[in-house]
Amino acid sequence: MRILLLAALLVPAPALAGKRKAPAPDLADTAAVVIGRALQAKDTTWTRMQELCDDIGHRLSGTPELERAVDWAARRMEEDGLSVTREPIEVQRWVRGSESLVIETSGRAREVPILGLGNSVGTGGEVIEGEVLVVGSFEELVAKKEAVKGKIVLYDVPFTTYGGTVGYRYRGASEAARHGAIASLVRSVGPTSLSTPHTGSLGYVDDVPQIPAAAVDIETAAWLHRLQDRGQKATARLSMEAHFEDPVTSHNVVGELKGRELPDQVVVVGCHLDSWDVGQGAQDDAAGCVAAMEAGRILASLDVRPRRTVRVVLFTNEENGLAGGRGYQEAHADEDIVAAMEMDTGAGPFEGYRIDARTGGTDDETLAERERIIAAFGAVEHLFTALDPEFVPSFSGADVGPLVDHGTLGIGLAMDTTGYWPIHHTEADTLDKIDRAHFQRDVAGMALMTWVLAEWPDLPRVQRTLGGHP
Ligand SMILES: [Zn+2]
Repeated sequence: MRILLLAALLVPAPALAGKRKAPAPDLADTAAVVIGRALQAKDTTWTRMQELCDDIGHRLSGTPELERAVDWAARRMEEDGLSVTREPIEVQRWVRGSESLVIETSGRAREVPILGLGNSVGTGGEVIEGEVLVVGSFEELVAKKEAVKGKIVLYDVPFTTYGGTVGYRYRGASEAARHGAIASLVRSVGPTSLSTPHTGSLGYVDDVPQIPAAAVDIETAAWLHRLQDRGQKATARLSMEAHFEDPVTSHNVVGELKGRELPDQVVVVGCHLDSWDVGQGAQDDAAGCVAAMEAGRILASLDVRPRRTVRVVLFTNEENGLAGGRGYQEAHADEDIVAAMEMDTGAGPFEGYRIDARTGGTDDETLAERERIIAAFGAVEHLFTALDPEFVPSFSGADVGPLVDHGTLGIGLAMDTTGYWPIHHTEADTLDKIDRAHFQRDVAGMALMTWVLAEWPDLPRVQRTLGGHP
């Protein structure tokens, strides 16, 4: 970098005549500077993780903690030299209240750990009591539908992948209610458990009654399944105070670095600032937020601003509404947002980038378009050598999803998630689970890709089968 600056000073005067314009930085030299600064930023990164996780803690939509996080992020990004705005977003406010589940079998009653599912109704100040019926799939539920009425259904479905299992958490209550269940329980959506139930949102369908739903830990689900297999009955007594209160105003926090040559082309790098109301929301998604903020801070520290505008966007309300991601797309529909990157699958060992382009056409067309864009990244592959990333055609992230649906190139930071799914949405999503060295490479991956997206002149644009760019 020093050599580069010296060279700029030696350029003869006529070349700089007229409008004084900073020369375009050398791509490889600046990429090395970005990676170097990101990997050396351990102290800043970790201090910020402590501020967000230890000082503020978990941050469910509608809580004062989330708005404290908004203020904190705005302050830190201002200190970093970004111009900061807070864009108001109305968010729903779901409140868990106290909750309990007591299982009685063979004359003995025992309270087991649960977490009510986000957006669930409560039990209306009563205790709902019913016999437990365990099923291992939706097909088994339908096969046993004559036995469902008046029961509390438990889905004991072992974790395969998150996408492959989360449907039981999301749709289970309505599917059980369709056949007359009075409440719904789901085995936590995670591969392992140390009595740590996993929350997350559910969705009710319109044409069936809304019944309360909670996650039990894997230990309880397996126990109840064993009892049923041996012909032993179990009764469940469920009490949940869950309810909605009036919506409140939250904010997407945006830190902007105006582009030097193409300020109207915008690169978004983001995460979600809200979390569930358990643990510290450390990997979901404080890590993504601090990494996105670090990308902004490092790019602001360069001698030359990136060619395009960079916006760090900390989205609100991803976990139980996605109002932040949707609202951002609507508010900025007239802008040319060329790419949007998100980190929201933990802080494990860095693997690379998930390239997401949605053509509006068939699945085959979408896959072909993602592969075309990955091939185009071959031209800048050398910039990434130090991090050795994979580029895979895949989903990018929930918050940037609405932008990607409208033609923006989506990129998800990819990391090994082995350590993530066991603690995701549980009381155990805390700072101690994060390996600082692994996380710092994620930060470098975010910073480098953000800079490449903002600087690379030939950045590919998504070709829409239906419609043009937004
Ligand atoms: Zn998340």
